[in-house]
Formats: sequence, C-alpha cells, structure tokens
Amino acid sequence: MTVQPKTCVVTGSSTGIGRGIAEQFAERGWEVAVNYRSSREAAEETVERVEQAGGAGIAVQADVTMPDEVEQMRETVHDAFGPIDVLVNNAGITQDVRFTEMSHEEWDTVLDVHLDGAFHCTQTFYDDLADADEGRLINISSLIGKGGNFGQANYATAKAGIFGFTRTLALELAPTGTTANCVAPGFIQTRMVEDIPEEIKDRLREDTPLGRLGTVEEIADVVAFLASERSSFITGEVIDANGGKDL
Ligand code: NAP
Repeated sequence: MTVQPKTCVVTGSSTGIGRGIAEQFAERGWEVAVNYRSSREAAEETVERVEQAGGAGIAVQADVTMPDEVEQMRETVHDAFGPIDVLVNNAGITQDVRFTEMSHEEWDTVLDVHLDGAFHCTQTFYDDLADADEGRLINISSLIGKGGNFGQANYATAKAGIFGFTRTLALELAPTGTTANCVAPGFIQTRMVEDIPEEIKDRLREDTPLGRLGTVEEIADVVAFLASERSSFITGEVIDANGGKDL
C-alpha cells in the first residue's frame, strides 16, 4: 500500500502523548504542526525530534480555548504547509477535586480545554479535513470518560463528551470520505500522572491486567494507525488502549 505524505496538526504536542504522536507522524515523513499553549521550549524540542525522525515541523502557539488564537494557528499552518489532512485533538488538562468541593471555575476550565478546544480546532480545520483525500479527525479521550474517577467529575464529563462528539463528526464527515475516531487511553506515564502519589500508582498497576502503566509510544502507535490509509474503513470508533483496565 502506498503511503502518501500527510500534513497534520497535533494539539498539545509540546509534551507527553502529543509529542509521541508528532514523533510517530514524523517517522512516516509527514509534516507536523506542534501546537502548545505555554511550553514553548518543550514545543521547540518536539519540533527538533520531528525533524530528526524525518518529518518537517513547526511549533505553533495557540490556546485551543481561544477561537482567535486557533484561527491564527490555521493561518500559520497554511502558510507553512498548506491545508491539513489530519487533526488530532489531544490538548488536555486536569484539575482534580472531589465534586462537593469543585468550584464552577474548576468545572469550566477543564470542560473548556477538552470540549471547547475540540470544537474550535475541528471547526477551524473542518474544510481542510473534508477536502483531504484521506482526511482523519482523531480525538484523544480517556478510560475515565467511560468509568468516571474519584475527584474527576469535570475531566470524566469532558472525556465522555468527546465520545459523542467523535461519533457525530464521523456521521457528518462520512460523505466526504474523511473518518473521525477516538482513542481512549488508560493511565499513561506523562506529566499528567506525575503528581499521582506512588502508592496510588501501585494500586493502578495492580488493577491493570497487564500490570503496568502504558507508554506514550503505545498510544501514539494507535493514533498513527488511525491516521494512516490502513484504517480507511474505520469511523466513529472508540479504540481503548488501557492494558485491560476496564475488563
Ligand atoms: P501532558 O503531558 O500534560 O500534555 C498536555 C498537553 O496539552 C501539553 O502540550 C499542553 O501544552 C497542552 N495544553 C493544555 N492546555 C492547552 C490549551 N488550552 N491549548 C493548547 N494546548 C494545551 O498530558 P498528556 O498525558 O500527554 O495528555 C494528552 C492527552 O491525553 C490529554 O487530552 C489527556 O486528557 C489525555 N489522556 C492522558 C492520559 C494519561 O494517563 N496521561 C490518559 C488518558 C487520556 P502546554 O504545556 O504548552 O500548556
């Protein structure tokens, strides 16, 4: 099967899973816009890794909750690479607190990044994706969107919302031949889980049939498959990558 080069935007790819996805895309020789909100140096390091891996990269600052910044990102990406084929809505944050103590601001902030962020980026790049020969929308949700988690009412709600968003976009994009899918990782070794106390991480490992946390590369592999021609008859799906944690 011939693999055509693709142009991609990965939101929140200065660190963690997003960086891993950018590196995987680069290994296929693809062009990658490395979006970040505030970690400029880390984003520049991702671009270096992209270029070392054989791709072309640019770092693009934009807070995905701000429509003007997302529109500016589209202009920057178009100037550098032209229209995109692949959008990965990956940017994410947590603000964990038990529901009874959760402020409305903590609720809104997390929903804004995950849901408004996916809304703004998808709407801004929708025409690119619809016009692409093998367009791909890939949203990063979470195991927590299915199972909920103590102290994460905001995050679980946002990640559950991503399931409905993905399925709806799959239907609306289908006539254009573009697919929309979602990856739902379990617990993955990134900055996001750094602050979880070690004894809780031990418990998570024990509760996971494969007995460990996942790696960034294991999630990036799934995303790279969904972004490729090889996934052309898959749309509207949630692909779990969680070591069997929800079995
Ligand atoms: P991470 O290392 O903390 O990376 C988060 C990324 O999102 C960073 O690049 C950050 O950029 C960016 N970001 C945050 N807010 C943003 C905003 N408003 N606009 C643009 N970029 C923004 O976390 P991660 O673990 O890789 O998480 C990546 C995705 O995977 C998230 O959607 C997360 O919910 C999901 N996920 C993670 C796990 C896990 O166990 N780690 C499990 C399931 C799902 P700056 O640093 O510049 O702010």
